[in-house]
Amino acid sequence: MQKIISLLFSLLLINSIVLAEESYKVIATASIFADMAKNIAGDKLDIGLIVPVGGDPHLHEPTPRDAQLVSKAELILMNGLTFEGWLNKLVKNSGTNAKTVLITKGVNAIKSLDYNNSFDPHAWMDASNGLFYIKNIKDALVEYDPANKDYYEKNYEVYKKEIEALDIYIKKQIESIPAKSRTLITSHDAFQYYGRRYNLALESVLGISTDEDVQTSSVSKLNKLIKENNIPAVFIESTINPKLLKQIASDTGVKIGGELFADSLGDEDSPANSYVNMLRHNTDVITNALKGNSQVAIDHHTANEVEQSSSSNMLMYGIIACLFLGGFFFVFRKLNNT
Ligand SMILES: [Zn+2]
Repeated sequence: MQKIISLLFSLLLINSIVLAEESYKVIATASIFADMAKNIAGDKLDIGLIVPVGGDPHLHEPTPRDAQLVSKAELILMNGLTFEGWLNKLVKNSGTNAKTVLITKGVNAIKSLDYNNSFDPHAWMDASNGLFYIKNIKDALVEYDPANKDYYEKNYEVYKKEIEALDIYIKKQIESIPAKSRTLITSHDAFQYYGRRYNLALESVLGISTDEDVQTSSVSKLNKLIKENNIPAVFIESTINPKLLKQIASDTGVKIGGELFADSLGDEDSPANSYVNMLRHNTDVITNALKGNSQVAIDHHTANEVEQSSSSNMLMYGIIACLFLGGFFFVFRKLNNT
C-alpha cells in the first residue's frame, strides 16, 4: 500500500513538473535568445526554450513537447534568417495564437554564400548585433507586459552596457593576434559576422548550415591553406561532430585550438553558460590558440622553471656540504698536527 502511495505521489510530482515546464507564456527558439530574454525579464517572466541546450537548431526536429510548448505560448522569440526552418510548420500545426517576433530586426544581414535570396543566420556572433537582439526582445516584452515596462527598461540598460563592454573586449583581444595568423578555421560557417566585425579571415568545412554534405575538395583546399599559411590551429564546435576537423588536424599536423560555441550555449557549469560568457570564451580560445600560446605551452614553461630552480637548489646544497666537510677535515688535521 505504501509503495502504491509513493508511486502515485511520484507520478503526481512528475506530472506537475511536466505541466509547469509546458506553461511558459514567453518562449525562445534557441538557448542564446532565451538567455538574452532572461536577462531582461528578470523575475517577472519565465522564459521557455524549444531547442534544448547542446541541440543543433539547424537540424531540430520538433517533438510533441514542442507542439505543446508552442500551443500554450503567447510570445515566441525567433532569429529568422533561415535559422529555424522547422518553426513555421510547428506554429501552424500547434494552432497557437502566439505572436512571433523576429529579434534580428535592424541587423545588417550577410547574404548566404551558398544560396540565392538567403541570409546567414548567425548574426548574434557579433556583439554589436547582440544590441539589436536585446533591443527587439526588450520592446517585445514591454509590449507583452506593459505593467512592468520600467523594470524591463532598467534591466535592458544594465545588460546593454555589459554587451557594449564585451564588444570592446573582443575587438582588443582579436587585434592582439599577429595579422598573418588571423584566419579562423571551424566546422561550419557560424563565424562570418564575428569575422566581419572583428577582422578575422574565415574558412569552414561545412557551409552556413550543418546539414550539407562535405565536399572532399573543401577538405583538401583547407589542408592546402593551412600548410601554405602556417595556420597554427583549427577549432571544433560544441554542437557539431568534430571528426572532420580532427582529421584535418592530423593530416596537417596543426593543433586543435579548442572548442567554440556558436548555435547553442553550453550547460550550466560550462564556460559558455550565457551569451556574454559564450562570446568571451570563444574569443579567449581563438586568441590563445592563434597567438600560439596554448595552455599546454604555458604549463610546460612553468614545469621547466620548477625543474631549473630545483636543480639550482641542489647545486647550492652540494657546495655548502662540500665547504662544511672541507672545513671539518681542515680543523681535524690541524688538531692532529698539534
Ligand atoms: Zn549554425
